[in-house]
Amino acid sequence: MKLSREQLATAVRALCADFGHDYWQRADEARAYPHEFVEALTDAGHLACLIPEEYGGMGLGLREACVILEEINRSGGNAAACHAQMYTMGTLLRHGSADQKERYLPGIAAGELRLQAFAVTEPDAGSDTTRIRTVAERRGDHYVVSGQKVFISRVLQSDLMVLLARTTPIEELEKRTAGLSVFLVDLRDAGEAVRVNPIDTMINHESCEVFFDGMEVPAANRIGEEGRGFRYIMSGMNAERILLASESIGDGLYFVDRASDYASARKVFGREIGANQGVQFPIADAYMDIRAAAAVRDEAAREYDGGETRGEGPNMAKYLASRAAWKAANVAMDTFGGWGMATEYGIERKFREARLYMVAPVANNLVLSHVATHVLGMPRSF
Ligand SMILES: Cc1cc2nc3c(=O)[nH]c(=O)nc-3n(C[C@H](O)[C@H](O)[C@H](O)COP(=O)(O)OP(=O)(O)OC[C@H]3O[C@@H](n4cnc5c(N)ncnc54)[C@H](O)[C@@H]3O)c2cc1C
Repeated sequence: MKLSREQLATAVRALCADFGHDYWQRADEARAYPHEFVEALTDAGHLACLIPEEYGGMGLGLREACVILEEINRSGGNAAACHAQMYTMGTLLRHGSADQKERYLPGIAAGELRLQAFAVTEPDAGSDTTRIRTVAERRGDHYVVSGQKVFISRVLQSDLMVLLARTTPIEELEKRTAGLSVFLVDLRDAGEAVRVNPIDTMINHESCEVFFDGMEVPAANRIGEEGRGFRYIMSGMNAERILLASESIGDGLYFVDRASDYASARKVFGREIGANQGVQFPIADAYMDIRAAAAVRDEAAREYDGGETRGEGPNMAKYLASRAAWKAANVAMDTFGGWGMATEYGIERKFREARLYMVAPVANNLVLSHVATHVLGMPRSF
């Protein structure tokens, strides 16, 4: 029997209760991957939420996946440790072949294989995905991949990686979005042809530079048709934007929960600081922004589950949720006074983590550009 969203939220909340502030704080300080948490989530089946039941997954939709990630972040945890296993499904389930699904999905659903890496960004192609230079050249029954990616998260914790590479030189194309292809790379077979350098960041995120030097990928692992990869990767990116919006909503609710509890307990000048409207109004204001973002996220997830392929809803959800979470983060910092900066309270860690979503997986300026040009029809600036 499939779980309802309420049942799912209750189950995830119960699981997260075993991984409290001390657990995440220790992982953050040690820059350690939260293996125990990811294993518990895998064992409970949550990371296979989107995988159809015939392959051993829960067979649920993106709306349910959103519940899982939101609850993890609301509890004070960090779903970024494992969220890619959900958003990569947007590409694989919609565009992968029956053979690819049969070969990989049962292993992923059983927790034997991890698909946690999504490789798009390059040093000279961040926001402008069409400028990527990593090349996949067809040689008989396989492709040979050479190039470099940056900020590829969890590649060291993954068996499989979804990769976007160029299969036709950009000079030979009329349309910038053509000539790109998507591959499901089995990193266990890559050997010396893949080199990985971790990038230190202000959060515990396991992001890396990845160098490909003649890595062979079987043609059978190309997802969909050659040259149509941009369209396929957008399925994953739209899912990613909706899912990460859910993490921001979880973060925002975490800040509001913590700030309102603290404001109701902390006494200064002989009364609770939360009795002052200068303290309580910003918390109420931040809460309403989060609820509004959640409504847009819910609509985007419902449309995605219904087969929608446009980027309007996913982009708007990601933009609104990241801003609402960042506003709530600052409100919590103000409410906690000096203790907001103290690691023992957890606010500063979540503050750093919440900031990421203003930049990734798509910078908010690029969302504004999408809405201005694709939704409102104004002239393009690039
Ligand atoms: C911790 C972390 C994890 C990540 N994980 C992954 C991952 O797993 N896989 C992956 O592929 N990528 C990943 N990324 C990369 C992320 O998606 C990019 O950082 C993001 O898309 C922005 O690209 P960029 O950093 O190159 O910024 P740039 O594209 O260089 O942009 C820099 C700034 O300029 C602005 N800008 C650029 N062009 C315009 C314009 N035309 N108009 C207005 N403003 C503009 C942007 O808004 C941004 O503020 C990760 C990044 C981080 C920080």
